[in-house]
Amino acid sequence: MQFKYYIRTKVFFGKGCMFQNKTELCRFGRKALIVTGGRSAKESGVLSDICNIFDEFKIEYGIFDRVENNPSLETVTEGGKTARDFKADFIVGIGGGSPLDAAKAIAVLAVNDMDPTGLYSNTFANKPLPIIAIPTTAGTGSEVTPYSVLTRKDLQTKMSFGNEDTFPALAFMDAAYTESMPYDVTVNTAIDALCHAIEGYLSRRSTPVSDLFAIEAVDIFRQCLDRLINNNIDFDTREKLLYMAMLGGMVISHTGTTIIHGMGYSLTFYKDIPHGRANGLLLAEYLKFNYDSAKDKIDNLLKLLGKDDIGQFGKAISPLLGAGPLLNSSEVDNYSAITMQQRTTSFNIRNVTVSDIANMYKAVSSNE
Ligand code: NAP
Ligand code: FE
Repeated sequence: MQFKYYIRTKVFFGKGCMFQNKTELCRFGRKALIVTGGRSAKESGVLSDICNIFDEFKIEYGIFDRVENNPSLETVTEGGKTARDFKADFIVGIGGGSPLDAAKAIAVLAVNDMDPTGLYSNTFANKPLPIIAIPTTAGTGSEVTPYSVLTRKDLQTKMSFGNEDTFPALAFMDAAYTESMPYDVTVNTAIDALCHAIEGYLSRRSTPVSDLFAIEAVDIFRQCLDRLINNNIDFDTREKLLYMAMLGGMVISHTGTTIIHGMGYSLTFYKDIPHGRANGLLLAEYLKFNYDSAKDKIDNLLKLLGKDDIGQFGKAISPLLGAGPLLNSSEVDNYSAITMQQRTTSFNIRNVTVSDIANMYKAVSSNE
């Protein structure tokens, strides 16, 4: 048995956890740049709560609220310049995965005047500013991962970077901040968390510890499934989903993702399908593809999910996903070639060829 376990983030979880631990926010300096999108920080209530705390402790803050969904290199470059000009001591990311990932890149660029493509070298002359993460979705687990997934318009896909210094230093996880999430975002992010757990569990890089987190996350997803389908999502369920998302993040911090994410990026980039839904559409085909290479683990997953076989599981989650994308053959070829370029494709438990990927895309396409 050989593995590494490392999560650098100090996590506070539970209703009211930010107020209860507000002195933690004073550890990082006198000037904070808040990084967020157009609505999540305001609608969740995090922005007014944290501004009150900053006022109380006389911490000066600026707000960069221009992060779009699936943030681009261009946006984080602008954010990095804003942080540098403001002379921020630390960065606070508030929102779903998009603002949290952008916050990590901005924390690096604030202190490294470099071409943003240099982020992917994962070595930075100066250590990134400390990052505080406050999730308002329950899915990406970005609050406990080192990864920052950014849209590469030049490469027509999404790519992630991250090293041990891009783990958030601190995460406040309060399900009350996820209550304002629209229903579709709640569903898509829950599916993303499920995919993190499953891809990590079946990854070549899975470890005994990451498997524990993955199994627990899948079990929690089963507990929440009916409420997700029926849009009957109470606070207890929100808390479970946030916890599941955190566990999924802890899993992929060790294992990375595999081909579901690699394939899903093209569905997001070209078809504008939200990240979690893009992954979910591929999930059942991915399990079928890998079944012979990970029979015991996939049987265990199905047992945890209370399903007899992959087909039954696919049917159970289909109300959350809707119809697959319309893909023509040149799109399938293009997306498959792009997926093969993703580093994480090599982490898949079964060796993958470009035609395997193409077959999975065809199977989920509404054309077929
Ligand atoms: P998101 O793109 O951050 O947010 C989706 C939408 O929901 C946005 O319009 C957002 O508003 C809104 N929203 C979020 N929370 C809300 C709230 N509480 N109330 C009202 N509206 C709210 O969605 P996400 O699925 O969490 O993140 C997806 C991104 O994370 C993708 O780029 C994906 O690649 C990445 N990701 C990262 C990791 C990792 O390890 N770092 C893992 C998986 C995925 P705003 O306009 O304010 O943002
Ligand atoms: Fe994801």
